[in-house]
Amino acid sequence: MPAMLMNFLPVVTRMCAVFAGVALLGACEARLEGPPAVSDLKPGFAQKHMIAAAHPLAAKAGLTMLRDGGSAVDAAIAAQMVLTLVEPQSSGIGGGAFMVHFNATNGAIDSYDGRETAPASAHPRMFLDTQGKPRGFFDAAVGGTSVGVPGLIRMLEMVHKDHGKLPWHTLFAPAVKLAEGGFLLSKRLAGILERERYLRETPGAQGYLYHLSGATKAPGSVIKNPALADTFRQIASGGARAFYEGAIAKDIVAAVRGAAKNPGGMRLDDLARYRAVKRKPVCGPYRSWLVCGMGPPSSGGVTMLQILGMVQDFDLASMAPAAPAAVHIVSEASALAFADRNAYIGDPDFIKVPTTGLLNAGYLRARAKHISLQKSGGRRQPGAPGARTAFTGAAQQTDKGHSTTHLSVIDGDGNALAMTSSIETIFGSRLMARGFLLNNQLTDFSFRPDHRGQPVANHAAPGKRPRSSMSPTLVFDDKGDVVLAIGSPGGSRIIGYVTKAVIGALDWKLSMQDAVDLPNFLSRNRGTEIERGTALEKHRPSLEALGHQVKLISRHSGLQGILKTSKGLQGGADGRREGVAYGD
Ligand code: GLU
Repeated sequence: MPAMLMNFLPVVTRMCAVFAGVALLGACEARLEGPPAVSDLKPGFAQKHMIAAAHPLAAKAGLTMLRDGGSAVDAAIAAQMVLTLVEPQSSGIGGGAFMVHFNATNGAIDSYDGRETAPASAHPRMFLDTQGKPRGFFDAAVGGTSVGVPGLIRMLEMVHKDHGKLPWHTLFAPAVKLAEGGFLLSKRLAGILERERYLRETPGAQGYLYHLSGATKAPGSVIKNPALADTFRQIASGGARAFYEGAIAKDIVAAVRGAAKNPGGMRLDDLARYRAVKRKPVCGPYRSWLVCGMGPPSSGGVTMLQILGMVQDFDLASMAPAAPAAVHIVSEASALAFADRNAYIGDPDFIKVPTTGLLNAGYLRARAKHISLQKSGGRRQPGAPGARTAFTGAAQQTDKGHSTTHLSVIDGDGNALAMTSSIETIFGSRLMARGFLLNNQLTDFSFRPDHRGQPVANHAAPGKRPRSSMSPTLVFDDKGDVVLAIGSPGGSRIIGYVTKAVIGALDWKLSMQDAVDLPNFLSRNRGTEIERGTALEKHRPSLEALGHQVKLISRHSGLQGILKTSKGLQGGADGRREGVAYGD
């Protein structure tokens, strides 16, 4: 039985008189609160269309839209609204997102930037203490100062105008129904709530995710959110404007400015001014494929393409999946790519990012020459892909293990998308407005505005977008057909998680699920990270013998992918979280 269903078993047992396996879950279909009936959903394989998302209720909402003749974008919007409700720790309308989209009719590949922007009150020293030192992560993240102007709704409205088929308001129906009727608290979310230190104090969280006494609600509790249902209704009928101007905007501003801790300076005109941006995706060759991802202000696409560009001169296909030699090569390439990432990538509307130079084939070949099969090169320095415009200090790192979400969709017309969406860390800023959580995305800016006398590319500034690592990715074959849609949460480790799954599917010919399940391994230029409790642990001595400084990481990826094969669509959903892929 899939891990995600195990989470719900106690609840399902209570809901249904008898429990005798997956088929009987169909008997619970009428109760929308729990996991959807799976008897007719065939997780993992499909011929026509498919959605892979981080929660079964979200995947089901997306599938409903696909069955109603909706496009990939329609499915993604419906799923994202449900995720706002059922995965409040990860993403939602109080946050931002990036999407890479393929239009099968005209072959266009576009990317959409719904990243949060800093309000006019932001400034480069906003996360320094009175002595001028960077503040602790949660000291800065919790409260109003870290909240960026949410970008998700404007971006979704833009993609819907470009690629939606169903009317906008219909896409909110599943989320409204669940917010009003309730959904069942999963064991995983109950555990996250129990371990959470800050949200208990948040006005709006008690009586909702916690009891009024402050105690965590038990797994299987029915969670309702009428305030969010009302918010959804307003956006459904009024469009993005209902969110960015008027009563909802006023409440966002009030929550940020009135925060008990770190009151922020966001104003109504910061919200009214917010614009999503349609950008050219970054694309590059990987062997016979074309890989397209999100360009700056995300570092995801460029860094991934650099890693792939460097490893393509090595015969990974001849190595066993995640064999030590393969882990060595990919980690070495990743360390080199992260050195460049930290030096050059920030918001392209504010700094000159040398994207073309970073992805130049000759440059990547020269960088790949630094990879020795005999020995790790250790900590790497950035290369010189073009005129250096700035130097970024390494971003602060924290355990973002349970936040952010990724969904992938391929519809019946062959349109495909990958969307990664986030409120940054778990439960974002821990501030709520009208039933949803507000992001803390501004802590993705470098806390230090300068480094060794030079300005940092990713420093905070009014209107600026903080650098991201989100890596929604589409892969195309040599005929231009989409073959893979994938992405993951996981902070700056996202880049490594997605790269691993892409190599797993393309080089090692793994099924989508096996590529997702493959143990995670990566480097962020600060040691080689391998996934705890997996077969990789036994390769630690071989990696150390090659000079790697090996660190163990937890099981925190949330890869959601769809692989198009000659036999149909294969879904892969990360059992490390609650994901599932549904299709017909
Ligand atoms: N804020 C992060 C980013 O944009 C994502 C956080 C996470 O994945 O947990 O890169």
